[in-house]
Amino acid sequence: TPPRLVSSEKRTDDEDRSLRPQVLGDFVGQAQARANLSVFIEAARARTEALDHVLFVGPPGLGKTTLAQIVARELGVNFRATSGPVIAKAGDLAALLTNLEERDVLFIDEIHRLNPAVEEILYPAMEDFQLDLIIGEGPAARSVRIDLAKFTLVGATTRLGLLTTPLRDRFGIPVRLQFYTVDELEHIVGRGARILGIGMTPDGAAEIARRSRGTPRIAGRLLRRVRDFAVVEGDGTVTRAVADRALSRLEVDSIGLDSLDRRYLETIALSFGGGPVGIETIAAALSEPRDAIEEIVEPFLIQQGFVQRTPRGRVLTPHAFRHLGLAVPPGAGT
Ligand code: ADP
Repeated sequence: TPPRLVSSEKRTDDEDRSLRPQVLGDFVGQAQARANLSVFIEAARARTEALDHVLFVGPPGLGKTTLAQIVARELGVNFRATSGPVIAKAGDLAALLTNLEERDVLFIDEIHRLNPAVEEILYPAMEDFQLDLIIGEGPAARSVRIDLAKFTLVGATTRLGLLTTPLRDRFGIPVRLQFYTVDELEHIVGRGARILGIGMTPDGAAEIARRSRGTPRIAGRLLRRVRDFAVVEGDGTVTRAVADRALSRLEVDSIGLDSLDRRYLETIALSFGGGPVGIETIAAALSEPRDAIEEIVEPFLIQQGFVQRTPRGRVLTPHAFRHLGLAVPPGAGT
């Protein structure tokens, strides 16, 4: 199978960094989240207090990390970043926390993957800005309490359901990110092309936007790949025809579904009669991890109305059968 265009792995090269919007005003889309954040940021600045803890929730590539960086920049404070699975021991988190200065932003990506022992020490840190640590072992062990700077924790998760309730309850500002509209993605693609110096026609930008699966990270990747085709096979300008040829070669279909999306839909349609079928069964049939399917594949297909999650399993809609070019079976979901 070809490498996935969607994955939770992040590009950190310079080009990617240059595409990241740096201030709230350059961040396209998520209008409601942006409006609310700007009020809370302004209020925190006016009081010179730390911003309340923020939790960004949404599928990969929608801008959680970017927004976290923007929050720190707009607050005028330091930004420190880590991720849930990287913090192995309570001591690792303690080291991060004790190095924070007043009002700093600590960003924890994939916060649903924190180890429970680490999560324990995060509670008093978030609530009272205190760290309770056990030093030493056995009879010599003693507990020490350390005062921390009043910081802002910004958490990001693709899976709100996997967050424990005590952790979730400690975020004063929960922000859910939505898939982007084609118009918003057109802006993002246009901006990316200007930054990277790529010549592009408006219908070229529109074509990439339509096929970006509602996701800025995918728009950025597709833009770079289409540029390569434009340079090698055309005169360097991204037109609609160049974009269409390149994206078809990359197995991105007319509405942005990739090969795994289509395998997912076809498996439910052809092997399970359109469902209902359980997620474990689908994962086994596709030989893909269940997590990846739930985190990466399903959110967009559900948002697009191709599949429904029911108590008895996943069910394809008539819309999905039609997109696959299959006859809609009688009694298929709505
Ligand atoms: P997440 O943390 O949600 O997985 P990121 O913040 O890493 O997503 O964003 C993925 C990529 O998409 C980054 O390269 C970023 O530059 C780009 N991006 C995300 N949101 C926007 C946006 N609103 N406007 C422009 N580019 C964006």
